[in-house]
Amino acid sequence: MSLDDDILKGTSNVAEECTDTLEQEQHCITVSQTLRLHNESVNVRGVIVGISEPIKMISARTFICNTCDIKLETETYDRPRFVDSQKKLKCPTCNSNVAITVAYDYVNVVKVKLQDDGSDVQLEQLTCLLFGDDTLNIHPGEMVEVKGYVEVQPHKDVLQAILYAQRIAS
Ligand SMILES: [Zn+2]
Repeated sequence: MSLDDDILKGTSNVAEECTDTLEQEQHCITVSQTLRLHNESVNVRGVIVGISEPIKMISARTFICNTCDIKLETETYDRPRFVDSQKKLKCPTCNSNVAITVAYDYVNVVKVKLQDDGSDVQLEQLTCLLFGDDTLNIHPGEMVEVKGYVEVQPHKDVLQAILYAQRIAS
């Protein structure tokens, strides 16, 4: 085998590995598998077994100085949150912190419970947060694929895996 052949072979191996990675990214895992992950991106497939009323989460926060009538600082959250930590801020113009108010941007959210399909599966349920337009046309019993991010969060006295959906498809 010549040197050129070796190089070509090497290149073709790299191409195969890339294809494998792409296929893995599109591959859906189960609800049971997702619940055992910590903080990572996933594609999960499951049946919708529960749907909450529409709720709101905070998608961005802006500090405003009412004395100077200016926006001081806006923070947009990649993953919306239920509560916001209230840090103290001083206006750099008037040097006051008494006239500072906070304005929030909200996003519509629906919590759904996903479960694996089949008669011999575990009855574990994954809480999944759907945002904006993804909160429309959600039906109980529907098999869906959700692309999103699993985040570990406190829930009552324990830590739990919650899925923040970026996209849902049936
Ligand atoms: Zn000010």
